[in-house]
Amino acid sequence: TTFHEKGNISIHTENIFPIIKKFLYSDHEIFLRELVSNAVDATQKIKRLASLGEYGGELGDLTIKVSVDKEAKTITISDKGLGMTADEIKKYINQIAFSGALEFVEKYKDQGVERGAIIGQFGLGFYSAFMVASQVEIVTKSYQDAPAARWICDGSTEFEITSADKTERGTDIILHVAPDSEEFLEQYRLNTILEKYGKFLPIPVEFDGKVINETEPIWTKNPNDLTDEDYLKFYETLYPFSEKPLFWIHLNVDYPFNLTGILYFPKIKNELQLSREKIQLYSRQVFITDEVKDVVPDFLMLLHGVIDSPDIPLNVSRSFLQADANVKKINGYITRKVADKLNELFKNDRTGYEEKFSDIGLFIKYGMVSDDKFYDKAKDFVLLQSADEKYYTLEEYKTKTEATQKDKDDSLVWLYTTDAGKQDAYIQTALTRGYDVLKLEGAIDPHFIGKMEQKLEKTSFKRVDADSLDRLIDKGVTVESVLSEDEKTSLKSLFEGVAGAGYSVDVQPLSSDELPVVLTQNEFMRRMNDMSKMGGQPAFF
Ligand code: ADP
Ligand code: MG
Repeated sequence: TTFHEKGNISIHTENIFPIIKKFLYSDHEIFLRELVSNAVDATQKIKRLASLGEYGGELGDLTIKVSVDKEAKTITISDKGLGMTADEIKKYINQIAFSGALEFVEKYKDQGVERGAIIGQFGLGFYSAFMVASQVEIVTKSYQDAPAARWICDGSTEFEITSADKTERGTDIILHVAPDSEEFLEQYRLNTILEKYGKFLPIPVEFDGKVINETEPIWTKNPNDLTDEDYLKFYETLYPFSEKPLFWIHLNVDYPFNLTGILYFPKIKNELQLSREKIQLYSRQVFITDEVKDVVPDFLMLLHGVIDSPDIPLNVSRSFLQADANVKKINGYITRKVADKLNELFKNDRTGYEEKFSDIGLFIKYGMVSDDKFYDKAKDFVLLQSADEKYYTLEEYKTKTEATQKDKDDSLVWLYTTDAGKQDAYIQTALTRGYDVLKLEGAIDPHFIGKMEQKLEKTSFKRVDADSLDRLIDKGVTVESVLSEDEKTSLKSLFEGVAGAGYSVDVQPLSSDELPVVLTQNEFMRRMNDMSKMGGQPAFF
């Protein structure tokens, strides 16, 4: 016998409910973020209805109020938003995963209500209240002409709706805090959570007698209306007591995804000292996380600032974020913007750019090493510093060395030092020969050198002590030494007796100005050693 049947999968509410309450959000404190976000949405909606002429009453003071009653063990979130009728409660609250936020945007989108104005989207946030409350009460009065209603639920699948005597438009959500969640009745705890998630919410939120948020953070404003002072002040709000940033980028895009934000380039004193300040991720001015690992390219994690995008999915796991197509696009966009900004600084103010290079060089090189697209942009503005402290672009340095540093195979050899102090004798010898030496002394530089060798045509890098100079840049001409063969042999054996492992002794001064004896370390062997010491990774990550 065979079967063929089609049907609808059903959900057993009793079983799915605990899953939503306990496992949807790993962090219990976000109940407050969700409920305050709903209050913001309700307030945005009544403002929209008023501006569309669908609500003719007074808007009044729209401040959202959060309060706590330690005796009664309740937390109350009150708004003067659009409220709900009893029927709307049944529709929006009793139906899990039915979002009134999405419905509102759908309904009014032709009248210019953008998705970005409303926070909610999954129709699940409200139920996070049950993570901390044993009973939740809604007391609400709609802007429409309907009696006020009270809804009560103890987290089971049963609820109760009665009429209420609330006369003012808006909604109070009253949480009867569960015994295992009483920490949330502490004033300072609530204040910390509100500060964390709600600092930049677009509607004023009052707690403990004062407004906790800045409703128009500067990233939502037009860059043309902002001064350097504004940007620096905002940086200080985000990261009090930090040193001034070097410069910043105001991000603003609305197609093919929506994203605003400000990224700051911090001053780095020492590349081993990782910045503790993190980029903060927001969605419609609600703080989401400062773990932006998958949203921002790895090499830009050293930047500071905020990114706000309604297109970054909320409440989701890291693996979800990684796989999200928008997140990938955002990644590419940020990389491009950063490259454009650096290019602009380089083009417009070379001197200023050079002055900052010791700080920003690290970002640029790390970006070039880890991202080919960034390499292709940055190759025009990355700078190499020569032992004489002057800076050159790759192209300029090529021009500078082309005539003098090509070997017999017509390949360019770029000499470098990893420690100008220790390798000074070698550097001086190279300079006497008319060669130039680059300073590549940072932890990222071995990787950067490897990348450049991969990318630059017929160019190799050799540390200035890797061999005697006429073998490093082998022009195919035999050079006469000023020493006799006998003198060379005895000097060589004398020094070989004391040279350490890994060094070769070379006795071949071209003239009496040069050092008679050099100890050299084979470039390949030394690089292998250095790499294995660093475990193949840039030391600072
Ligand atoms: P979402 O916000 O994603 O739509 P929620 O579970 O947070 O989902 O809320 C469900 C719905 O309940 C909202 O879309 C809204 O219609 C309604 N709602 C929740 N809180 C309020 C409130 N304070 N005022 C008016 N309506 C509300
Ligand atoms: Mg919500």
